[in-house]
Amino acid sequence: MKAFNLTPVAVVHSPYKEKFGIPRQPQLAPDVEASVELVAPFSRPEALSGLAQASHIWLQFIFHQTIDKGWKPTVRPPRLGGNKRLGVFATRATHRPNALGLSVVKLLRVEQTPVPRLIISGCDLLDGTPVLDIKPYIPYVDSVAEATHAFAEAEPQKIAVHISPPASQQCEEFYREKGIDLTELLGQILSQDPKPAYQTFDAERVYGMRLFDKNIQWQYQLTDGQWLINVTAITAQD
Ligand code: SAM
Repeated sequence: MKAFNLTPVAVVHSPYKEKFGIPRQPQLAPDVEASVELVAPFSRPEALSGLAQASHIWLQFIFHQTIDKGWKPTVRPPRLGGNKRLGVFATRATHRPNALGLSVVKLLRVEQTPVPRLIISGCDLLDGTPVLDIKPYIPYVDSVAEATHAFAEAEPQKIAVHISPPASQQCEEFYREKGIDLTELLGQILSQDPKPAYQTFDAERVYGMRLFDKNIQWQYQLTDGQWLINVTAITAQD
């Protein structure tokens, strides 16, 4: 088959500064905002004209951070506990031929300055992700009422998130500085339980992710017979 050369039309600017901790699908952390900025030679204001009529859009993008790792014909999806193998085309895994991703995100608004860009929410995209195409989500064709999926019928089970007093203080400071409710966002992001699906709960281990310009640290804690996430520290990134 002939090979095709594709050039990104846009780049994502998102608060997710590393792969770990990003929700496994868009909409799982619905209030996390990001922008999709058109890049030359596609950064033409008129290319976005009319798009604001759609409430949601499709983004086709490259898993650029893992593309060099190649692909395998089978992968272990987190929804199956991370131990059972399935064909790569039966999953939404990142390591796949052509490293192409597809996400539906909410379109909050279209802006033209400083560059033509889209402000979106509910994305599962790393900062710097190259976008190959943008299309409106059209409910009557894209939403299939009778569609089913045997093992991913509903959202994965969530875990409770507790913000410790020192972390809570940092959230308040962040709100004062940026007007962003980090407590709410951490609740949405971490309730997806970012640890790998095959890992068991370990109360000693300290986990961390980079979000905005902060390092977020947490530990798993057994409380009244239930595991929860306790955000222990929020510090500035070095
Ligand atoms: N919704 C898309 C899809 O179905 O094609 C992506 C699903 S994929 C399971 C989502 C994960 O991809 C995120 O949790 C994050 O770990 C990873 N990811 C996001 N952006 C990436 C990028 N630019 N490069 C590599 N991995 C990325």
